Amino acid sequence: MMVSITFDVEHDCPPYLTTTRGMEKGLPKLLDLMAEKRVRATFFFTAEMAKRFPQLVKRVIDEGHELGSHNYNHERLDKLSRDEGRKAIEKSLEVLRGFDDVVSFRAPNLQFPNYYYDVLEKNGILVDSSKATYKGYREGVKFFGNVLEVPASTTSSVIRLPWRFQRIIHSRLKEPRVYFAHPWEFVPMQKEKIRWDCRFNTGDKAIELLGMIIDHYRSQGARFFTMREYYDLYGKLKRE
Ligand SMILES: [Zn+2]
Repeated sequence: MMVSITFDVEHDCPPYLTTTRGMEKGLPKLLDLMAEKRVRATFFFTAEMAKRFPQLVKRVIDEGHELGSHNYNHERLDKLSRDEGRKAIEKSLEVLRGFDDVVSFRAPNLQFPNYYYDVLEKNGILVDSSKATYKGYREGVKFFGNVLEVPASTTSSVIRLPWRFQRIIHSRLKEPRVYFAHPWEFVPMQKEKIRWDCRFNTGDKAIELLGMIIDHYRSQGARFFTMREYYDLYGKLKRE
C-alpha cells in the first residue's frame, strides 16, 4: 500500500489572510510529529516562505524530507499568462534550489493547466502533484512527457473530519493515496473570518487526527512515499 503525506507550505489560508502563524507554530509541530512517527513527507514551499523562514527549510531537509515548490508567492497559474506563470515557477525554483535539489511541484489551489507540464520539464521538474482526483481528474499516475503526474487524492479538510467519518473516505481512495495539508491548519483558525471548512478542527486536534491517519496506515503495513520516490518507482517501470 502506497501512502503520501504532503504539505503545501504557504502563508495562512491564502488568499484570505496574510499572517504566518502556521509557519511559526504549525510547521514546527508537524515536523515533530513526522519525526515521532518516522514518516518522510514532501513539503511544497512557496519561495516567499522559504526566504522568510530559512531555518524551517533547513529543518525539513536535515530531517530527511523532500523539498518541493509551491510556486513563488502562491500565484495561481490559471490566472496568469503562460509566460508570467513560467517566470513565477522559474523564480521559485531559483530560490528553493539554493537550499536543496528540487524535482517536485504542486500548483497553488491545485490549478494547473496542462500546458505547464512542458514548462516544468524544461526546468528539471520530474514529479507534479497539481491534479486532484477529488476535483475530477481520473487518469491516475501517468507521465506527461518526462513529468510524472501523481494526483492528490482528497481535499485537505478531509483529514480534520471526525475519525469515524474520515476512515470511510480513506478506505475508498485509490492508490497511491496522496494526502495534503497546510501548516496553518495546525494552529487554531476558529476565530478567523474564513470559510468554515478552513476553520473546523484546526489546531492540536488536526495534529492528533493526522497522527491517527499515519498509525492507521502503518498498522496495515503501508509504505510512505515522497514524490521523488514515485519517480524512481514509475520511471523504472517506464524504462523496462
Ligand atoms: Zn497552497
